[in-house]
Amino acid sequence: MFEKPDLSLPKHVRTTMLPYGQQWLDEQDIEAVTKVLRGDFITQGPAIIAFETKIANYVNAKYAVAFANGTAALHGACFAAGIGEGDEVITTPITFLASSNCVLYQGGTPVFADIDMDTYNVDPEQIESKITCRTKAIIAVDFTGQPVEIDRISMLARDRDLILIEDAAHSLGASYAGRKIGAWADMTMFSFHPVKHVTTGEGGVIVTDNEVFYRRLLLFRNHGMTKNPEELTRNDGPWYYEMQELGFNYRMTDMQAALGVTQMDKLDFFVTRRREIAARYNEAFSKLEGLVIPGQQSRAESSWHLYILRWIPEHFSAGRDVIFNELRSLNIGVHVHYIPVYLQPYYQRMGYRDGICPNAEQYYRTAITVPLFPKMTDQNVNEVVDAIETVYRKYHMQIKGRLL
Ligand SMILES: *Cc1c(COP(=O)(O)O)cnc(C)c1O
Repeated sequence: MFEKPDLSLPKHVRTTMLPYGQQWLDEQDIEAVTKVLRGDFITQGPAIIAFETKIANYVNAKYAVAFANGTAALHGACFAAGIGEGDEVITTPITFLASSNCVLYQGGTPVFADIDMDTYNVDPEQIESKITCRTKAIIAVDFTGQPVEIDRISMLARDRDLILIEDAAHSLGASYAGRKIGAWADMTMFSFHPVKHVTTGEGGVIVTDNEVFYRRLLLFRNHGMTKNPEELTRNDGPWYYEMQELGFNYRMTDMQAALGVTQMDKLDFFVTRRREIAARYNEAFSKLEGLVIPGQQSRAESSWHLYILRWIPEHFSAGRDVIFNELRSLNIGVHVHYIPVYLQPYYQRMGYRDGICPNAEQYYRTAITVPLFPKMTDQNVNEVVDAIETVYRKYHMQIKGRLL
């Protein structure tokens, strides 16, 4: 007997939630960490130097300074850039809170520039329109792993004498015009949170070619303290140290750094797998009218931290929130990245108002992040595609008067 397939359920039904992102750790990683635990140094030992060197070499930067996490690293970059009270720093609202909070930590003022609706990255023209005599720096965020138009933004920063900090938490392994991210901005931050490309549990780094920034980052990470005889204002003896700035304890441990080294060995493989999955999603979802796949800028080679689908409201009989919940009920761990930062109550209390960045707000209402991480199996990828197609069929409406 022929049975009509039940289209209201996907072919592959999951029984546990598939997260949107997850680390990949193997025996090599575990061995590297236990080796540190059996050794003499568990913090600020040789693994830190090895990890910093590895990152700097990978992105082709002169210096790298490891931090306890990416947020601390961004704080360090704002300190090194000399951001303080009265200084404005231009960034995007479609980012994690840390990209603009780091400016507030230093007493500066974040200014939000609107996004491009194709790439969801900050629009260089919008940055330009927000520059005033108080602007000190730009924090450009490579949202989802796709680099911003870093050539145009670098040029703008150079012309206007602004410091360019790149928040590359999403874009380790990505390139722009054939050159790795990390070799473009004055300072570039990578994060090693477990959902990012490589992980140290918690961790972050700033890479730079500028020696002055490098020295300031080292001071900031360690209470503003130095023992370097060349930097001391006087020298009372071999025990002597000096606090020259107000810094923090933002150090990374050697256990974390050792993990970072073995994770870096797998980075290119991780990025390749992420690109493979993204290509499969693009192929499946570009056929579905009313769904918008992530637009890619021709010179940008994304390392695909996130895969985002936009559901254009006119094409669906249910809103984004219903669709989101439905995907969750099929155990697909969808997410939304991000709520425009200035809509957060804390920012609203500071006086930021709705409507500053209309594209960002429109983007936010329609976006859903779909699971993407290297450890996903082909079966997992099929489960995601099936679930999306099922929910799509349920709510998609043909637009009247249109021949399809
Ligand atoms: C993860 C992330 C950060 C902060 O990194 P942590 O290591 O979690 O502190 C900053 N900016 C963006 C865009 C991020 O995704």
